[in-house]
Amino acid sequence: MRNDALISKYMQFNKILLSTLNINKKTIDLFDGEKNQIFSYKDYFLFVANYFDLIPDFVEKSIVVLDTIDVSNELLEIDAEYKNKNGVPVNFIYHIIKQNDEEFLLSIQEKKTIDNSQLDQMTKANPKSYIDNRAKNNILTKTPFLLMYIDIDNFKHINDEYGQLIGDMILIEMVSACKNVLGDKGAISRVGGDRFLVIYDIEDDYETVHDFLFYLKQQMQRISACTSRGIGITVTIGSAQYPKDGQYELMLLKCKKALIRGKNKGRDCFIMYLEEKCGKVTLEDKIDDKEIKKIDNTSTKNDLYSLITDVNQLLNDDRTVDESINKAISLIGTYFYIDRVSIARLDIKTHKIRKHHYWFNPKISIKHEVYCVDSAIPYWAKALGVKNYVMIDDTNSLPLDHPLKELFKKDYTRASMSFELVINGKSFGLIRFDMTTGVRHWQNEDFQVFLLISQLFVSYFQKNYLKDTNYKTFYIDSAYDCNNFTKMFTDAGEKIINSNITDYFVIELDLRNIVRYKTLIGNKKMYKIVRIIVDVLESKENVIYGKKSGGPFVIFIDSVSEEEIKELINNIQDKLNEFTKANNITDLSCQVGVYKADSRKDSLIDAISNANLTRVLNKTKDILFYSEDIRNASLFKTEMLLRIDEALENGEFLLYLQPKISTKDGRLIGAEALTRWYYKKEKLLFPDTFIPVFESQGVINKLDFSVFRNVCIYQQLLIKEGYTPVPISVNVSRYVSDFDEYIKTIENIRSSYQIDPKYIEIEITEGMYYENTSLISGFINKLHSFGYKVSMDDFGAGYSNLVSMAKLNFDIIKFDKSFCLDLDNDNVKVMLDKLIELIKMLKMSTICEGVETKENVDYLTKIGCDSIQGYYFSKPIPWDDFKKKYIDSKYNR
Ligand code: C2E
Ligand code: CA
Ligand code: CA
Repeated sequence: MRNDALISKYMQFNKILLSTLNINKKTIDLFDGEKNQIFSYKDYFLFVANYFDLIPDFVEKSIVVLDTIDVSNELLEIDAEYKNKNGVPVNFIYHIIKQNDEEFLLSIQEKKTIDNSQLDQMTKANPKSYIDNRAKNNILTKTPFLLMYIDIDNFKHINDEYGQLIGDMILIEMVSACKNVLGDKGAISRVGGDRFLVIYDIEDDYETVHDFLFYLKQQMQRISACTSRGIGITVTIGSAQYPKDGQYELMLLKCKKALIRGKNKGRDCFIMYLEEKCGKVTLEDKIDDKEIKKIDNTSTKNDLYSLITDVNQLLNDDRTVDESINKAISLIGTYFYIDRVSIARLDIKTHKIRKHHYWFNPKISIKHEVYCVDSAIPYWAKALGVKNYVMIDDTNSLPLDHPLKELFKKDYTRASMSFELVINGKSFGLIRFDMTTGVRHWQNEDFQVFLLISQLFVSYFQKNYLKDTNYKTFYIDSAYDCNNFTKMFTDAGEKIINSNITDYFVIELDLRNIVRYKTLIGNKKMYKIVRIIVDVLESKENVIYGKKSGGPFVIFIDSVSEEEIKELINNIQDKLNEFTKANNITDLSCQVGVYKADSRKDSLIDAISNANLTRVLNKTKDILFYSEDIRNASLFKTEMLLRIDEALENGEFLLYLQPKISTKDGRLIGAEALTRWYYKKEKLLFPDTFIPVFESQGVINKLDFSVFRNVCIYQQLLIKEGYTPVPISVNVSRYVSDFDEYIKTIENIRSSYQIDPKYIEIEITEGMYYENTSLISGFINKLHSFGYKVSMDDFGAGYSNLVSMAKLNFDIIKFDKSFCLDLDNDNVKVMLDKLIELIKMLKMSTICEGVETKENVDYLTKIGCDSIQGYYFSKPIPWDDFKKKYIDSKYNR
């Protein structure tokens, strides 16, 4: 935009010029709200003069004003009078505030000389009496209109932080911005320090008013005194409509209630008065800005319980479906400030939306479609760790890498949040919670709330829509003919509420290494084993249990002691031992986590997720009870997940290299890239802390690609320095979901650094190919076709068998650490010897990892293992140390 155009736009809007003055450079930097414009003194004043039609001596005089300012003063206010071209005097005020020794904040404001005794001196807003009259007139003539209180959020804070001048400027600009929007259809009056009463002629129609408020709020927040200085400013609006909301006095009261509600809700929103939402607001509630109201845990949970009861009651009454839902939603809305709930049914096969039902308050409108992206579903499912209900992020920004990240991000302000209802692994539909009035600051607690609400709807739908479907589909685990998680959840929830239970336990019980175990013993025996557990659980009267599909048992039990819990678990373990002994199969151990809950503090969902956390962190055979440590461990997990992107950006993931040494001549033949996380650059974390967490949330590929990139960078550096690099191997996580995508990505990275693929090796871990050999074989072949070498990592650790090894086209077999750690056992020795012989016949090369002693090195050399990796030679070390130690030295000559 040309300078003059820019200024006139600005002036028209504000009648204030706000700029930074640099007295050394003699320049003025004008804020236009987006980018800054730098002028010489002269140019600047020429434009101003031109705009106001002033005679040119304005320019000279203004420059003198600036040249003579006393820099020792912190604040200056200069009044000046000039004449315009018609000879009419025009008054200006210069405000100058010292920023630092060179820079000043300059504002020039035209002092209007017209008769404005009626208007607010500073902001030029109308007096309140003007609005009163206008409203009464409208009512007389039955002209519909909107009345609103507008309050600037945290205004006191802004005054304190940026000074009164900026504060005043904001007030002036806001009024001017508001007037711009209102035109002659409305008026604004200042009724308090930072509060305005506004009237606007508009149809009494929800949709129209809603859109208007949205626009007005946006315009008032986008004023340049703030945007240019990076001050985030927001307003809260409470509104009422004529004729819907009655006479003027009543409307004023309603506006106030709506405003109070908006403030309590956390500000930065507009609330249109509705009896259901604002009726209960008491006017004693102060409108003063308090700290954003955090949803207080205990009170929320108490609220929640009465909410559940009330909503349940509503849903159980004999009403039509729509009526029930509508009533329930407005209730929920009152408690949790949700304006709208929409429900979309998904087609189970295609996951496309099949049918939409919108129930909401107060009126139906379909503004946003609900999206559902197939590929994102597994992430959602994992994101909450609760299989039955999963969250789908804001619909405007799909597809997303990771919803958790978005969700808990500091300023998570989105208009909506959705859940997918999955019943027995089948997607039933989406429930979406919306704020139709602006955005909401979502808080962690909201998830609990929404989960529970979703639960209520599930039960309701089960009753009303699924009556005719087979009960089994919803409450029975089809693999083991036992109760499923939904059944447990519903029964336990009902019991808590109906029997007023306060103390209870939630136990999560799983079998260790279940996948591996199942492949060893087969499905039939596995069925028997699970049934043993079921039989014990079903024999106890006070136990409510359910099995998560393909996962652990969740057990609800009340009025028992910790001792009795231990007894129950030991009973199960004993029965399992009897079975394994009788059938001559390997022992099987339970992994158990217990949470002792208090329904006054914990929701059932919380209790279940705490039991789950405890189980997952239980590394022992004993029963583990929830403790503060477990809570912290889980908080840290979440923190790690939230920080992954930031950490990648900060370079917190360090490339460590561990050498691979040839048994023939002791030379370096390669290295493995292993990651360390220099967490917040404070402490070093090892992969076992963070890799499983990343894997469980489907974000491990981010790290793997970054490691791959770092390896390329490192190799490029060596080549530039004239070395011939050795191949460096990188680990592929077993959770790659799309092999073609993986190859595409690494190929992009590799070619951008122009590294020959022979310098990179891909390690595929055993766990990956145990189920889908044909997929993996395709993956390996494709890697080969691009020129990469591929090795089988952790061979012998568990899943693999010789047949699959022989069928797959690996270049290198990497023996798991466990071999070397057991090498004093003669049987292991013989086995390793023969295996190496065999692998050589298959024309693959061999490497052993975890080699810690001289004896092991000697033995491995003797039996013809090609190379060795292990602490005996070196631990993984930072890449630059590696370079000094191995590349710049004899190892590579
Ligand atoms: P891995 O791929 O089997 O890596 C070998 C592990 O054995 C490394 O542990 C290494 O430090 C350790 N090790 C090497 N020599 C010896 C020895 O002589 N004795 C013993 N006891 N251990 C030895 P680290 O670095 O803690 O890594 C653990 C696992 O984390 C790795 O197992 C790998 O599966 C995973 N990992 C590490 N970095 C990455 C990565 O960037 N991406 C992925 N997906 N996984 C990674
Ligand atoms: Ca490895
Ligand atoms: Ca390994």
